Amino acid sequence: MSEAKMIDGKAFAAGLRARVAVEVARLSEAHGLKPGLAVVLVGENPASQVYVRNKARQTEETGMASFEHRLPAETTEADLLALVRRLNEDPAVHGILVQLPLPDQISEPAVIDAIDPAKDVDGFHVLNAGRLMTGARGARAPLVACTPRGCLMLLKDTLGDLTGLEAVVIGRSNIVGKPMAHLLLGENCTVTVAHSRTRDLPAVARRADILVAAVGRPGMVRADWIKPGATVIDVGINRIEGEGGKTRIVGDVDTQGAKAVAGAITPVPGGVGPMTIAVLLSNTVVAACRQAGLEPLSF
Ligand code: NAD
Repeated sequence: MSEAKMIDGKAFAAGLRARVAVEVARLSEAHGLKPGLAVVLVGENPASQVYVRNKARQTEETGMASFEHRLPAETTEADLLALVRRLNEDPAVHGILVQLPLPDQISEPAVIDAIDPAKDVDGFHVLNAGRLMTGARGARAPLVACTPRGCLMLLKDTLGDLTGLEAVVIGRSNIVGKPMAHLLLGENCTVTVAHSRTRDLPAVARRADILVAAVGRPGMVRADWIKPGATVIDVGINRIEGEGGKTRIVGDVDTQGAKAVAGAITPVPGGVGPMTIAVLLSNTVVAACRQAGLEPLSF
């Protein structure tokens, strides 16, 4: 069997950002609308700082307005909620993202609940999660969590129609595993959600035409867990000790082994990772259109 196709998330994300930039220019010209994204970072988590910097840079590159709010690690929940309320009321802000994780003194669900669902470009608010689960469409269509939405875009680009395919999602988090499962169900896949208590995970994984790994365990999915020809989406971002004391990023899949068995696979880095911010930008444009009473593009 030939080696698996490598799914180029970096290139797909660049294309998506270019489509976002064209739409941003059109909205400005035709409607005087400049979509704006506010990103809130509490504390000094180094990984979060990198994400927030990249989000701000890519937001500006597409012609949107970027608003950055950096708060000290000791910020109280009340102060963060007050900022979220101000952003909810600000007409220049169409999307609000509060970077997780938050420090221990702040309840993440309380903060997510406080974000106006119309501005919840992360898709974490229960209204958006519920609308995804109930398959709401049209004016009620949810803002969908960025990483799983990006995974679905790569899957449809690779496979076309997903109807009837067996999909196995490993991981059941609210930000990746669960929304991923609902998106695949919406595409008429037969979906299994596996997790840390699943019995005989390799056998479950081997059923999958589409295998999504969102766990956070380096190289957990081995070649013999993969059905020959399956499409494998590796969401994991794990920092491990590399040569010469340097750290490097690996996924949840043993990519080298998997390449010999899978039909197509996302590399790490360069697969799912770049999709997340690109989808965030497209969600912001969709949110801005809806808030202005305009029909949003479907990206
Ligand atoms: P999480 O820790 O919230 O959830 C992990 C899930 O994996 C849990 O549902 C758990 O049941 C399951 N799990 C844990 N150990 C397992 C085992 N031994 N066997 C089977 N299942 C097991 O993590 P998350 O936020 O969903 O993120 C998962 C991974 O995806 C992480 O590596 C994270 O860094 C990465 N991630 C990447 C992006 C991106 O590409 N932009 C975005 C979000 C998360």
